[in-house]
Amino acid sequence: MSSLLRLPLGFRSFLLAATASCLLVACSTPSPSPDGSAAHAAALGTMGATAAELRDTALDNNRAYEFLESLVVEVGPRFAGTEGDRRAVVWAEAKLRELGFDRVYTEPVTVPAWVRGTAVAEIVSPYPQPMVAAALGGSVATPPGGLTAEVVRVTSLDEVDNLAEEETRGKIVFIDQRMERHRDGSGYGQTVPIRSLGAIRAAQRGAAAVLIRSVGTDDDRIAHTGAMRYSDEVTQIPAAALSNPDADTLALAIERAAGTDRKVTVHLELTTRRDPDQQSANVIGEVLGREKPEEIVLLACHLDSWDLGQGAVDDGAGCAIVTEAARLIAQLPERPRRTLRVVLFANEEFGLSGARAYAETHAEEISLHVGGMEADFGAGSVWAFESRVDEDQLPAIEAIAELLAPLGIEQGGNESRGGADLSPLRPQGLPIFGLYQDGTTYFDVHHTMNDTLAAVDREGLTQNVAAYVTVAYCVAEIEEPFRAPAN
Ligand SMILES: [Zn+2]
Repeated sequence: MSSLLRLPLGFRSFLLAATASCLLVACSTPSPSPDGSAAHAAALGTMGATAAELRDTALDNNRAYEFLESLVVEVGPRFAGTEGDRRAVVWAEAKLRELGFDRVYTEPVTVPAWVRGTAVAEIVSPYPQPMVAAALGGSVATPPGGLTAEVVRVTSLDEVDNLAEEETRGKIVFIDQRMERHRDGSGYGQTVPIRSLGAIRAAQRGAAAVLIRSVGTDDDRIAHTGAMRYSDEVTQIPAAALSNPDADTLALAIERAAGTDRKVTVHLELTTRRDPDQQSANVIGEVLGREKPEEIVLLACHLDSWDLGQGAVDDGAGCAIVTEAARLIAQLPERPRRTLRVVLFANEEFGLSGARAYAETHAEEISLHVGGMEADFGAGSVWAFESRVDEDQLPAIEAIAELLAPLGIEQGGNESRGGADLSPLRPQGLPIFGLYQDGTTYFDVHHTMNDTLAAVDREGLTQNVAAYVTVAYCVAEIEEPFRAPAN
């Protein structure tokens, strides 16, 4: 138990407080238990013992954070198509070589290039004052010098659709829907349509521009960017997000002016532009399987970030987690049965270019992908383990879940969806292993200038590596490969 003493404080107290019999060492050599659950871990045999050792080794080192710090300090922001993006590819390829992967290579990916420029948003009347705003990713610019228009406030996309066109024509539609904070991040899915679809829906009502409340859970005076879409059917109008405090102020100004003859007008100026497409790359590192090197366990993250922050949380942390998990497995005296393939995907944020390119390039071997895991939700501790495998294989999943229990991880269902970068592969029958991270504070910094090293949960990062390495090793080593459910 000497390693226990060197664990980060949070884990130490968790482990010491745990009453379960399945503590670190006990897990690798299970004793019979009344509910028979230990029988599952025993069923994993030597593989289970090795996985438990990997898990404990992961808890005992700081390598993932060192990887992340190197990325953030030596590269920093790396939005698709920028100089930072190109430097990130060079950095990642060199880093994977340094870490001892068996094979390291890149695959070209064409990415769109969008340049943010500057964003100015201010209340002109009746209470003039500046606001903090950021253009949404992909937004067109305002006319030179900006536009000034009356603001119409709504609280949902449905309300946008219900606006009469005469109320909206030539005005700025302000969609004031606040994102809720939840551990599983479910508030994002509920709110993000205002960002992705707001410009289309406001343009359908004849609006000149759309402002949204930032899709984020903080009350900091920072705006959250993120991708948005246009439709060929309607005019492309400028779109920007206000910081949460500025959205509050604008809403209060509108409330105060209501019932008077004063109109709230806002000036908005965005100097965004589109440049020609650029070249980027998926960066790939492999730990080659000893028996079935052609069978692949895919470990995914994305190398690109938004331009406003450092991409430490999104998704530097994810890349640190999956890379370190694979590196630990590469340190074993013997390679696992199958190949671990770490893919640091290009351009997840602005159109999934890397994931689509991968699915095309590897179309012939998709059926040889026997498992996919993705880390793209920051560094908060993992709290649940879900799967997407053939029902007959659930006993093996239960056995793996038992290895995760000492990390405070519970077993979830068998409908894991994986993240965005796995989405093109999922419909093609990819078995998925989902580790659900605590996202309580993730959306405080998501897609903002506050996505920095300071926002990274260092203990959580370590626990993530322990969880990922445990599952990745078992999926790569288990005798019978996992299959997706038949349906
Ligand atoms: Zn991400």
